[in-house]
Amino acid sequence: MTFSPAELRAQFPILSSRPGGRPLHYLDNAATAQVPQAVLDAVTRHETTSRANVRRGLHRLADKATEAYENARAAVARHMGARAPEEVVFTAGTTSAINLVAHGFGAGLGEGDEVVLSVAEHHSNILPWRFLAERSGVVLGYLPANEEGRVDTGALDGTLSERCKLIAVSHCSNVTGAITDISRVVAAARRVGARVLLDGAQFVPSRPLDVAALGVDFYAFSGHKMYGPGGVGVLWGRAEALAELPPFLGGGGMVRTLDGDAVTFADPPWRFEAGTPPIAQAVGLGAAAEWLAQLDWPGAQRHVAGLVARTLDGMAGIDGLRVIGPGADNSRTGVVSFVLAGVHAHDLAQVLDAHGVAVRGGHHCAQPLMEHFGLAATTRASFAFYNDGGDVDALLAGIKEAAEKLR
Ligand code: PLP
Repeated sequence: MTFSPAELRAQFPILSSRPGGRPLHYLDNAATAQVPQAVLDAVTRHETTSRANVRRGLHRLADKATEAYENARAAVARHMGARAPEEVVFTAGTTSAINLVAHGFGAGLGEGDEVVLSVAEHHSNILPWRFLAERSGVVLGYLPANEEGRVDTGALDGTLSERCKLIAVSHCSNVTGAITDISRVVAAARRVGARVLLDGAQFVPSRPLDVAALGVDFYAFSGHKMYGPGGVGVLWGRAEALAELPPFLGGGGMVRTLDGDAVTFADPPWRFEAGTPPIAQAVGLGAAAEWLAQLDWPGAQRHVAGLVARTLDGMAGIDGLRVIGPGADNSRTGVVSFVLAGVHAHDLAQVLDAHGVAVRGGHHCAQPLMEHFGLAATTRASFAFYNDGGDVDALLAGIKEAAEKLR
């Protein structure tokens, strides 16, 4: 299908709403993206024709629900290049996927083993490892970032110790939009036999993904950032890597037998899905994966790159505005962070809101990266495929007004 921003925009009902009586310029997509009608329809269809619990019922509706849930897993697996649906574990989101690995993989690590992160991580990919370090004496290392905030993967060359068991880094920064050079991470990890986990929360909504080609072991992302429902996400693991993990949460649906003291656990992915999963949300995530799969990706990426270039161009003409992150090249997504001299990020976000422009202001749960830049906060505009030139113009006009009013 050829990419048409106007046609795409029309598929998102919320974008024609007028919160506060003004047109909506939604530029907070890195926090949560909006949902197309196709996904809303899939969830409604499921809830009105197939709602029941999964993998335990004995009636026809339960079979239908299980089939819908497992079909969603297969759709996600196809979209991300997994070798089999069984490599896809449904979780509550990126955060719970990373915690699952920190517990499961972490259970096999001991005092002095090393896990390497980067200073550009979201807190979701720092705190689970900090907790592990406190529990078991695992030592954490942090890759530096360069002046654009991109993870300096070159720092891995020759410095990785034989005690390193895992490198866990973001595929793309939620602050700067910079994409990490994963091939160097994988090469360094292989040299010492370490595993690689990628936090793909920001990459998946903006680029096609082929996990098998990346050569990593674990990959985490959230449904609500990739045009799907909230409350659901994915931990993908290479079959061999998942097979080695003990379960994280205990509950219904994850054991084969529980007989006195003897427990045998179900195979992956069900071993990691204790309790009733987010069923309708997973069905919606499957629909989001199918929706993304039919997108004209080159056209969509060119469109967002054009919006970013126009934004950066406009920002270059605003006195005292500093962009935090890379320039308009191909190794970044639609996330644009910036600071305006003399104006706090929160105040700027509020002035923008008065223009109908929704952005994020704050540390973006990435305080080590804020420290790297010597900042407490930035304002962040993040573009999705449905944004257009009108959104860029409203953003720039709002920033100019804030500069006049607040300085
Ligand atoms: N990692 C990155 C890079 C993110 O941007 C986010 C959310 O902003 C997360 C992890 C956490 O995602 P969630 O809150 O959906 O678990």
